[in-house]
Amino acid sequence: MTTPSPLLMIPGPVELSPAVRAAAALPPPSHTSPRLIEAFGRSIERMREVWRADAASQPFIVAGSGTLAMDTVAANLMAPGERAVVVKTGYFSDRMVTILLRWGVEVVEVSSVVGGAPPAVEVQKALERSGRVRALFATHVDTSTGVRLDPEPLCRLAREAGVLSVIDGVCATAGERFAMADWGADVYFTASQKAIGLPPGLALMVASERALAARAARPGTPPPLFLDWDSWLPIHRAYEERKPSYFATPATSLVMALETGLGEILDEGIEARVETHARAAAAMRSAWRALDLRPVPRSEALTANTLSALNVPAGIDPAIPARVAAHGVTIAGGLHPAIKNSSFRVGHMGYAVTRPDFLRRTVEAVAVALREAGAEVDPDAALEAVDREMETTRV
Ligand SMILES: *Cc1c(COP(=O)(O)O)cnc(C)c1O
Repeated sequence: MTTPSPLLMIPGPVELSPAVRAAAALPPPSHTSPRLIEAFGRSIERMREVWRADAASQPFIVAGSGTLAMDTVAANLMAPGERAVVVKTGYFSDRMVTILLRWGVEVVEVSSVVGGAPPAVEVQKALERSGRVRALFATHVDTSTGVRLDPEPLCRLAREAGVLSVIDGVCATAGERFAMADWGADVYFTASQKAIGLPPGLALMVASERALAARAARPGTPPPLFLDWDSWLPIHRAYEERKPSYFATPATSLVMALETGLGEILDEGIEARVETHARAAAAMRSAWRALDLRPVPRSEALTANTLSALNVPAGIDPAIPARVAAHGVTIAGGLHPAIKNSSFRVGHMGYAVTRPDFLRRTVEAVAVALREAGAEVDPDAALEAVDREMETTRV
C-alpha cells in the first residue's frame, strides 16, 4: 500500500500535468538522437513564443536551476568593475546583488519596505545619478514576498538610459504578463520547476540581440566555460537547424518534458495561460479574505498571481505548513529573513491553476489547519469564496 503523495502547492517545484510527467519519464534519449534534436529545436522555437520574443533573440536551455541562470547572466553581461542597478523586492533580488558583488560588479541598490516595490521614478533617478551603468536587474515576482513588479516601465527606462534590462522571471514566466520584444527587455530567465510547470533541473534564458552583442563586446577574461553563452550558441543554433551537436551533455529527459510543457502552454495560448493564473489567483485571494488572512504585498497591484505570501494571524502558532501537511497539502513557510517566522506561502502556478479541485483542496487544508491552530474561521465560507470566484470569472 502506498499513501497518496501530498498535493504540492509551494512556489516550485510544482504539480506536473500528466503529459509532462509522461514525457519526463521516457527512457533518456541520446543527446544526438533525432527525437531529442527535434525536441530541443522545437523547445527553442516555443520559448520565443512563450517569452513573446523576436526572431533575433536567442533562447538558452541549460541544465541547472534558476540560480545558475542568475550567475550566467551576470557572467556574460558584466565585467568586474562595471556598475549595475538592482531593484530590490525581496530575497531573490538580494541574491542577485550577492552574485553581482562576487563578480566584482559595483551595485547600486534601489530598495523598498518588505512587501513593497520601489516606484519606477526611484529607479530612473538611480540610473541618472549613477552614470556608466551597464545593466538594470529586477525580479518580476519575488517569491519571498509575493511582490510582482511591472517590468514594462523598467525595461523602457533602461532603453532610454542605454542600459541593458535583465528580468528574473523565475516565479513568473508563463504565469504573469510579459512581452519581451514589445517591452524591449534584454534578458528574461526562468527555472523549469516554477510557473512554466516542469520538473526541476533546467535554467531557461532568452537573450535579446542587444544582450548577445553585449556579450561579444564584453571586455576582460571570458566567463567560466559552462556559463559562457559563446559555449552554448553553436549547439543551440545547430539544434534549431535540427543538426546534432555537442558542448556539454544536455538534460535530455528534461528537454523532452520541456517540449511537451511548452506545447501545452501554447495550445492554450500564452495570453490565455496567463489569464488562467489570474483567475486562480483571484479565487485564492477571495478565500484568504474569507479566512481573514492578510497578504504580505502592500497593494493588490503588487500582488503576484503565481503565489500567495500571507501573514500568520496574530496569536496563531506560525507552524501552519506543518498543520496543512497533515491534511495532505504541502505549502511553504516564510523565506524572507524579516518575515520568516510570521508568514507562509502557497504556490498556485503551472498545471495546478487549470485544476479548481487542487485549489479547493489547498484552501480547505489551510482553513482547517487555521481552525485547529485556534483561529475562528469557517472553512466552508472559504470554499464558497473559491467556487464563487471560479464561477463568476469563467467565461
Ligand atoms: C526560485 C527562484 C530563484 C532561484 O531558483 P532556483 O531554481 O531555486 O535556483 C530565483 N529567483 C526567483 C524569483 C525564484 O523564485
